[in-house]
Amino acid sequence: MAILIDGKAVSAAERELIKEQISKMTVKPGLAVILVGEDPASQVYVRNKKKACADVGIYSESYDLAAETSQAELLELIDKLNNKDDIHGILVQLPLPKHIDETAVINAIVPEKDVDAFHPVNVGKIMTGDYDFLPCTPAGVMCLLKHYNIDPSGKECVVVGRSNIVGKPQAMLLLHANGTVTICHSRTKDLKAKCLEADILVVAIGKPDFITGDMVKEGAVVVDVGINRKADGKLTGDVDFATVEPKASYITPVPGGAGPMTITMLLKNTVKAAELKGE
Ligand code: NAP
Repeated sequence: MAILIDGKAVSAAERELIKEQISKMTVKPGLAVILVGEDPASQVYVRNKKKACADVGIYSESYDLAAETSQAELLELIDKLNNKDDIHGILVQLPLPKHIDETAVINAIVPEKDVDAFHPVNVGKIMTGDYDFLPCTPAGVMCLLKHYNIDPSGKECVVVGRSNIVGKPQAMLLLHANGTVTICHSRTKDLKAKCLEADILVVAIGKPDFITGDMVKEGAVVVDVGINRKADGKLTGDVDFATVEPKASYITPVPGGAGPMTITMLLKNTVKAAELKGE
């Protein structure tokens, strides 16, 4: 039986540390959260982020903009927030409505306030290992591994998925931790063979229960980043828990595994941004 990696517990422990850190700071960290449109999932994410800020003592401002907001108006708001002293982090909830160019918006946030670590400057820093902010979801995965004393050093690490938000930065963080990293994607020829090599398997593809037990090596550590909603409304990951769990040594459940860590890492980045500004 695999050991369950409890993202809720690790997240709660990390948030206590963040709270303690903030209580000792002279400057109160501030986060601006921008939501454009009324996507229900995005509304939930934004609400959770604001609540998490309040719980640890981060000041937050929210900007709920109409779906018709023009790109120019959004860029103007970002410019204002870039120059606002009590705001250390700016988060624009993605996806944005189709008429707005996401890249232009990401690039408009000054790198010092880019707490999602999506700006090309921060992406470059992740590549070199000289980073201020870690991308939230992959950083959350690394934090989970650390809590369970799972050291990627020298291990075969397979990342399934190559998105800019999860897969690519995840691979980079595992590489910085001295893992031997393989990145798989939809054009990978023999995905099963690659996955079977993994000592640590991180899956982020957005396909419900896609990775099955026959694709996982006995004793592997399996981290499921996927969040998929099934027809019955329940959440499931990209990993078929029922068949993979008996083979894994450690596994993240969905929900309650990698998911809760993402917002915690956002809080961490906001505190870091405030600290860096104070230096
Ligand atoms: P994405 O941008 O859609 O990227 C999916 C990746 O999976 C792509 O690189 C794609 O390959 C690859 N892929 C798709 N089908 C595949 C297949 N059959 N075999 C191998 N690779 C395949 O997704 P994402 O934003 O990275 O998100 C992935 C999942 O993680 C989603 O379920 C999302 O909801 C979840 N997520 C969770 C959090 C969190 O807070 N825990 C945060 C972000 C995302 P190609 O590049 O070749 O198309």
